[in-house]
Amino acid sequence: MDIILLGPPGAGKGTQAKKLIDVMGIPQISTGDMLRAAVAEGTELGRKAKEFMDAGRLVTDEVVIGLVEERFKKPDCAKGFMLDGFPRTVAQAEALEKMLKRMGRRIDHVVLMEVDDEELVLRITGRRTCGACGAIYHLSFSPPPASGKCKCGSTDLRQRDDDNEITVRQRLKTYHSQTAPLVSFYAGRGNLRRITGTGQTPEGVFKKVKEALAL
Ligand code: ADP
Ligand code: ADP
Ligand code: ZN
Repeated sequence: MDIILLGPPGAGKGTQAKKLIDVMGIPQISTGDMLRAAVAEGTELGRKAKEFMDAGRLVTDEVVIGLVEERFKKPDCAKGFMLDGFPRTVAQAEALEKMLKRMGRRIDHVVLMEVDDEELVLRITGRRTCGACGAIYHLSFSPPPASGKCKCGSTDLRQRDDDNEITVRQRLKTYHSQTAPLVSFYAGRGNLRRITGTGQTPEGVFKKVKEALAL
C-alpha cells in the first residue's frame, strides 16, 4: 500500500507513521528526516537546505524530488511506503504522480491530519526526539518514561533547531500557502481521508487512521 501522511507541522505525522510501521511493515519516507541527515553529514545539499529549514521555508522542489526518487529505488519500497512530509507543493505532487506512473503504481490513500494552529505551536515547541532511536516525545503531552531518558535508555533527547515559536509560525504560514492546496488536489482524485486531530490523543488518532486505511 502506498500512502501519504498530509498535515501541518506538528499534526502528528511522524507519531502516527511510527505506529503504522509496526502494523503495516512498510517504510516511512520522511523528507524532513532525510534533509536533517544531510545537514548532520555536512554535505553541500545539507548546507543549502539548512538555510531554508531554519527560516521555516521550503527547500526547493528539485532537491526534495531528487531525494525521494533515489529513495524509491531501495528494495524496501517494493511492498509499499508511507510518505511523511512529501509532497508539500502541487509541483511535488505532480512529480510524484509521474514517478509512480513510471513504477506502475499509484497512491492508495492520502491521510490528512488537521489540528488547530495554536495547538500545533504548543505541540512543536514541546517536541523532543531521541537521537538514538528516533522516538518522538512531548514534554507535557507525551513525556518520556523517566525524565530526560528515552524508553531505549538513551539520554540524548533533542530539540530541533527549527522547533522554536518564531520558526513554527513561519512554517505554519508556509503550510497554509504552499501545502494546503494539496487538500483539494487529492480530494479531486478521490483518495483523501480527513482526520481531526485537535484535542485527540495519539492513540485516538491512530484508531481513526486505521479506520481510514481499512486496517
Ligand atoms: P509531525 O511529524 O506532523 O511534525 P509529530 O508526530 O512529530 O508531528 O508530533 C509533534 C509533537 O506533538 C510531538 O511532540 C508529539 O509527541 C506531539 N503529538 C503527536 N500527536 C499528538 C496528539 N494526538 N496529542 C498531543 N500531542 C501529540
Ligand atoms: P514538520 O513536519 O515538523 O514540519 P519536517 O521534518 O517534515 O517537519 O520538515 C522540516 C523542514 O524540512 C521543513 O520546514 C522544510 O524546510 C524542509 N522540508 C521537509 N520536507 C520538505 C518538502 N517535501 N519540500 C520542501 N521542504 C521540505
Ligand atoms: Zn530512544
